[in-house]
Amino acid sequence: MNYFSTRGGDKNLVTASKAILSGIAPDGGLYIPSEVPKMDRSLKELYNLSYNDLAYEVLKLYLTDFTEEEIRDSIEKAYTGKFDNAQTVPVVNAGGVSFLELFHGPTLAFKDMALCLLPHLLTLSAKKQGLDKEIVILTATSGDTGKAAMEGFRDTPGTSVYVFYPKDGVSNAQYLQMATQEGKNVFPIALKGNFDDAQTAVKNIFADKELAENISNKGYVFSSANSINIGRLVPQIVYYFYGYFKMLSSSNEIGKEINICVPTGNFGNILAAWYAKQMGLPVNKLICASNVNKVLFDFFETGVYDKNRDLIISSSPSMDIIISSNLERLLYHLSGDSEKIKGLMSNLNTTGKYSFEIKANEFAGEYALENESFDAIKEIYEKDGYLIDTHTAVAYASYLKYAERTGDGTDTLIASTASPYKFSADVLAALGFDAKNDSNQEWKYIYDLSSYIKSPVPSQINGIEKKPVLHKDVCPKDGAKTFISGRLI
Ligand SMILES: *Cc1c(COP(=O)(O)O)cnc(C)c1O
Repeated sequence: MNYFSTRGGDKNLVTASKAILSGIAPDGGLYIPSEVPKMDRSLKELYNLSYNDLAYEVLKLYLTDFTEEEIRDSIEKAYTGKFDNAQTVPVVNAGGVSFLELFHGPTLAFKDMALCLLPHLLTLSAKKQGLDKEIVILTATSGDTGKAAMEGFRDTPGTSVYVFYPKDGVSNAQYLQMATQEGKNVFPIALKGNFDDAQTAVKNIFADKELAENISNKGYVFSSANSINIGRLVPQIVYYFYGYFKMLSSSNEIGKEINICVPTGNFGNILAAWYAKQMGLPVNKLICASNVNKVLFDFFETGVYDKNRDLIISSSPSMDIIISSNLERLLYHLSGDSEKIKGLMSNLNTTGKYSFEIKANEFAGEYALENESFDAIKEIYEKDGYLIDTHTAVAYASYLKYAERTGDGTDTLIASTASPYKFSADVLAALGFDAKNDSNQEWKYIYDLSSYIKSPVPSQINGIEKKPVLHKDVCPKDGAKTFISGRLI
C-alpha cells in the first residue's frame, strides 16, 4: 500500500510513514491510498473483536511499512486506559436511531479517536524515515482538534505543537481546555479571524518553501495533526465497523445495510465512513449533515462548491467551516484525475468555486439550522432522557429531515462527536434555560447541566475553571507565519 497526492497522481508514490510524516503533499495536494483496500477477513470474523483488535485489522491494511508489533503497541498506548468507557465507543439507541459515542476520550470529542494514536504513528514514522529533526506540528483548529492534538502530543520527545484557533470562534469550555493545557511542548495561539483564516494560514505556512528551508537549518520540520494528515483519517475508519457491529441485534443481522449520518465540517469524519464502505461495510447512504454553513449541502444539491459566503458563527463551532479540505480526496477517488483536481482547487483559489458532477451518489446532503438542532436536543431529551451535544444535534435534526424528505427507513447510525458538557451553555439554552453564551462565566453551566440531568461532570472537564491559564498568545489574522518564524528561527 502506497500513497500519492490528489494533485500529482500516482507518479510519486510514498510509503505510509512518509505520508504521515509529511502531513500535506509537497504540491499542496492531500495524500490518498493508491487503492482503498478491502477488509481481508469476513464481517462474521470481525464481529466479536474488541475495539483494539478491530483497529489492528483496519490499520494493518493501510500501514504496510509498520510491523504488527508497532501497530498493536501504538493502539494499546492510544486507547487502553485513556477512555472513560470500557467499550471505547459505546452505541446508544435513542430517538429511533443509534448514536455512536465517539467522545469518551481525554478531550471529550471524537478527535481523540485519531489524535491519541497519531503521536505514536508519527514518532515511529520519523524513526523509519531516519529523521533527525524536531517535528513541529502545526494545527488549525475549530476548537476540538487543537486540544486533542496538544493532549496527544504533550511532552512527546522530539515534537512540539502549535495550535491556531479562532479567537472568538470556540466555546468557553474549548478555550479553557486549550488555555490551561499542560506540557512543555504545546502552544495554543488565538488568531484574530475565523477557522478558515486559521486553516488557510497553516496551509500557507506548509506551502512556504523558504520557511521550510530556514527552519530545517535550525533543526525543525513541519508536520500536521489536521485531517489533511492521512494518519488522522485511517484510525477513524475503525469505529464505523465497530459501531455497525454494536448496532446489530445479533450476528444473524450481519450484512444488513445501514445509513451513517455524520455532523460534518472539514469532511474528514464522513470520508472515513466512505472508506469503511469501500472496504466492505454494508452502507446504504452516507448522510452529510451541515449546520447553517451549508456549503456541502449546496454542493450535493447543485454540483457547485461555492465558498463565496460569510462564515456564520454557530452553536456547533467545530463545523463552522466553509472550505472542507477532505472533499478533495473524495473528488479524486471519484474522478481518478489529478489534473482535474488541480484545476478545481485552483478555481477554488481564484474564483472561490468549482463544479463537479457526482454520479451514482452514495451521499445525501442535509442541514439543520440553529432552531432545528436546538429543538432536536430538547425533543430527544424529553422523550428518551438522552442528551446530545450541539454538533450531534445537527446530525440528528438533519437525519430527521432526510428521513421525512425521502421516506428512507434504513436503520441509521449517527456519529456523536462531542460530549454535551463541552457545549453546556447552548445545550442548556436548547433545553429552555436562560444560558447566555458570551459570558466569561460560561463554565458555570457545566455544573448547572450536571445537576439538571443528574449526572456527574466528566472528570476530563471537572474543575477546569480552577486550572491556571498557561497560554495567552494572540496573533493577527495574517500573523501566523510571523509568529512561527519568530519562535523557530
Ligand atoms: C471536528 C468536529 C466535527 C467535524 O468533523 P470533520 O471531520 O471536520 O468533518 C464535528 N463535530 C465535532 C464535535 C468536531 O470536533
